[in-house]
Amino acid sequence: MAFDSLTEKLQNVFKNLRSKGRLTEDDVKAALKEVKMALLEADVNFKVVKSFVKEVQERAIGQDVMNGLNPGQMVIKIVNEELIRLMGSETTEIKLQPGSAITVIMMAGLQGAGKTTTTAKLAGKFKLKGKKPLLVACDVYRPAAIKQLEINGEKQGVEVFSMGDKIKPADIAKAAMEHAAKNKNNIVILDTAGRLHIDEEMMAELQEIKEAVTVHQTILVVDAMTGQDAVNVASNFNDKIGIDGVIVTKLDGDTRGGAALSIKAVTGKPILYVGMGEKLSDLEQFYPDRMASRILGMGDVLTLIEKAGAEIDEEQAKKTMEKMKKAQFDYEDYLDSMSQMKKMGGLSSIMGMLPGMPGMGNKKMPELDSEENEKKMARMEAMIQSMTVEERRNPDLLNPSRKHRIAKGAGVDIAEVNRMVKQFNETRKMMKKLPGLMGGMGGKKGKF
Ligand code: GDP
Repeated sequence: MAFDSLTEKLQNVFKNLRSKGRLTEDDVKAALKEVKMALLEADVNFKVVKSFVKEVQERAIGQDVMNGLNPGQMVIKIVNEELIRLMGSETTEIKLQPGSAITVIMMAGLQGAGKTTTTAKLAGKFKLKGKKPLLVACDVYRPAAIKQLEINGEKQGVEVFSMGDKIKPADIAKAAMEHAAKNKNNIVILDTAGRLHIDEEMMAELQEIKEAVTVHQTILVVDAMTGQDAVNVASNFNDKIGIDGVIVTKLDGDTRGGAALSIKAVTGKPILYVGMGEKLSDLEQFYPDRMASRILGMGDVLTLIEKAGAEIDEEQAKKTMEKMKKAQFDYEDYLDSMSQMKKMGGLSSIMGMLPGMPGMGNKKMPELDSEENEKKMARMEAMIQSMTVEERRNPDLLNPSRKHRIAKGAGVDIAEVNRMVKQFNETRKMMKKLPGLMGGMGGKKGKF
């Protein structure tokens, strides 16, 4: 798994820090020296490591320790924030053309980086979002590339445009645009040829494609397992043809993680997605904050507390808590708790922060985060909104005819209403058992 050894080393550093009641400047410096070693061993770019450590040190030594945290936790908090910043802070979406205009995406990268596979994976993502992508086989040199794209395209249920290996890639791209316009495709993804090394010919060919058709997004695919080479490749491509973002593949097999950590800092271009396996579904959006908490690997309770403190409406949370304690939890509270959960970044991000709950590394987690789940949540909201105020406040009123009316109002079928009612009842039952536990939490910080 990616970052395993980095995570382990960082955890050791922090374990030592946390066992100290007070931190001296020397303690911080000694700890950061170890952080530096750990990052270098993870194959993070040397300059990036240097400025990272300097930044953390300046912040850690000058800063007051926040209420409720010990000095060791304060350092973890700063390292976490700086890691997030290093990876670009925000998640970057691939920018699409407005309305029904066609977005042209050119995929570039060295041979073997995973370009063809990633092209098909990406098409699947767009299809899920309701787009109609067209894959274009512009790799006319690698004999199996066209076939591979066709096979993967078929698996994804996405059309592949190819003209064999005798036509120039720029001409294939042009013909593909005509096809896309006729066929009402709104995204065209060009799978271009890679070479074993960066060479003039490859760059010239990409340039030629760019001159033949309007490319809106150039996405570079790099192999995480090549470490700093991947970063150099990214710099090179960016200088020569200009890239808009990077997809880092094979993160599943990379135990060091240096490429993922350095690319944004070195090239200024964001990581858009990461490849996590050979299957066509193994492509994940890149979230700098989740990646940071995964690297730190400490089930970041800290972030949970912080987010909870910052984003939850305190008064509302208190009211909900009071009701929970009295076991008067109703559908209005259920609705509130759902919107609070959304503010905190969804169920999976909360679970990833709890101690003992693995973050993204856990195979089950991505499911919780899926669009499917968000849709489910939206439907649950619709169902509750279809209830009368009376029904929301008095959950036991719901009888079959009321449930039918709610299903109709929310545009879902009755089975789904029944499922939601069941889930609500289970939550309510759980709440009844909770008062003691929650009381303890509420008393301590005056929040939650
Ligand atoms: P291209 O030459 O850049 O088009 O590379 P391919 O798409 O043919 O991929 C090269 C190899 O890498 C294939 O065996 C892929 O299955 C594999 N591959 C691609 N992406 C990933 C990934 O994220 N994880 C793993 N484990 N393998 C990958």
